Amino acid sequence: MNDTNPISPVPLYIDGEYKQSSAQQWIEVTNPATNAVIATVPCATELELEAAIASAAEIFKHWREVPVPERARLMLSYQQILKDHHDELAELLSSETGKNFADAKGDVWRGIEVVEQAANIASLMMGETVENVASDIDSYSLIQPLGVCCGITPFNFPAMIPLWMFPMAIAAGNTFVLKPSEQVPLTAMRLAELFEQAGAPRGVLQIVHGGKEQVDYLLAHQTIRTISFVGSVPVAKHIYQTGTHNLKRVQAFAGAKNHMVVMPDANMGQVVNHLVGSSVGAAGQRCMAISVAVLVGKANEIIPALRTAMEKVKPGPSDDSKAAYGPLISPAAKQRVLQLIEQGKQQGAICEVDGSSCTVEGYPNGNWLGPTLFSGATTDMAIYQQEIFGPVLVCMAVDTLDEAITLINNNPYGNGTSIFTACGAAARKFQHRIQVGQVGINVPIPVPLPFFSFTGWRGSFYGDLHAYGKQAVRFYTETKTVTARWFDEDIPDGPNMTIHLR
Ligand code: NAD
Repeated sequence: MNDTNPISPVPLYIDGEYKQSSAQQWIEVTNPATNAVIATVPCATELELEAAIASAAEIFKHWREVPVPERARLMLSYQQILKDHHDELAELLSSETGKNFADAKGDVWRGIEVVEQAANIASLMMGETVENVASDIDSYSLIQPLGVCCGITPFNFPAMIPLWMFPMAIAAGNTFVLKPSEQVPLTAMRLAELFEQAGAPRGVLQIVHGGKEQVDYLLAHQTIRTISFVGSVPVAKHIYQTGTHNLKRVQAFAGAKNHMVVMPDANMGQVVNHLVGSSVGAAGQRCMAISVAVLVGKANEIIPALRTAMEKVKPGPSDDSKAAYGPLISPAAKQRVLQLIEQGKQQGAICEVDGSSCTVEGYPNGNWLGPTLFSGATTDMAIYQQEIFGPVLVCMAVDTLDEAITLINNNPYGNGTSIFTACGAAARKFQHRIQVGQVGINVPIPVPLPFFSFTGWRGSFYGDLHAYGKQAVRFYTETKTVTARWFDEDIPDGPNMTIHLR
């Protein structure tokens, strides 16, 4: 952070206008492949935050009255415009995350899928009706928007995660204040411009910038009804505790430690490919990355094949089509992972492949880390206990599927897991008994499509209703139940002194 006025400042998006902030504090946005500064982002002032929230509250009064098909049509236009700008968005996203182009396109695509789902908002907002709950009385429910909703997003999916949030909230009739990650604000700004081009009315989406201070202001603000958060565990706990303390509805998606169980009967060629892709893809900076392989019985014999496959994988800049993944987001993030690798070695895990001293030609200042593979890890080691969020795969050996299930259920996280096996009974047992919210069977990263919801459990999620799908509509709305009688004649039955309808 520095105190100088920025050269290429990222604006705020308040009341439909791009405004330069009068912030005193600015944060540098860097390209992680070079660490060159590509923009600076303001820590919005209280007046600016107040203006965004006040505008969102004012616009809500009109937006909630806009007919549902019109709101759906906005999302239909938006998904088309996003598709038209898919490559351009992916390039921008690559510049601030370092993701390779194909993976950046995937990030945008998974967001577009949510917008497609938001275009179905009419059927998602249908209430229920029961006729004749008592004589001539009908009951029905109405699904109504809440007001101003707020989203706070992480660095690792600059398109997908904002798109998990604001399209569903706005389609449901709310207005939305987004505080994107200060490390990757550029993609969010472009998403907003394209939303405007799609026909979004002024002020339904507002974007403010900053870090903890700005987030805490949003968490305390009386006008904001919901907080959607995605990020690290300590911050997720803070957001959930503070947001609910302030009587808001909160969904807070947190960190993860995702295990893949490999049974001895699995197709080992596929296992090796999927383990490598799902552990080091995106430099391991995915909340659904597989970071632990639990090798059951003879499956432990795949370590040499895994080592060979890992050694072939190289990181590189986003425009190098041969590079498997990009750099870590920052020098601090790289340093953290390096320390964990060191701890793994000191605590007695076998470092089969060590990516600590990786370099990439032409990019001497990038935050590079090569693929790293540990075997023989145990549950008391830091590399098992902590979310590494780097291109590191930790292998553990167990004797039985039951042991693997117990190991995973004892881990505090519950975001995603998978099993690779040829045996239906083993897969069925695993899917039934595992205490994890998203399960893959011969699928390594089981991120549900948007007609389902993103259903992390336990230490990976604080709240009740999850992101996108039907659960998001319930999160962003209130249910009103109407009980109605229309008299077509006088009913001479006198006052009803009971609670029963008649
Ligand atoms: P982070 O927690 O550092 O930041 C997330 C957001 O919180 C940012 O907008 C940031 O400005 C804000 N923030 C940071 N510190 C804060 C504080 N003290 N008080 C209030 N707000 C604060 O997370 P990150 O490093 O950007 O993202 C990586 C983390 O996100 C990983 O732990 C990853 O597992 C997690 N993640 C989880 C999911 C999921 O669905 N469960 C998805 C993606 C990422």
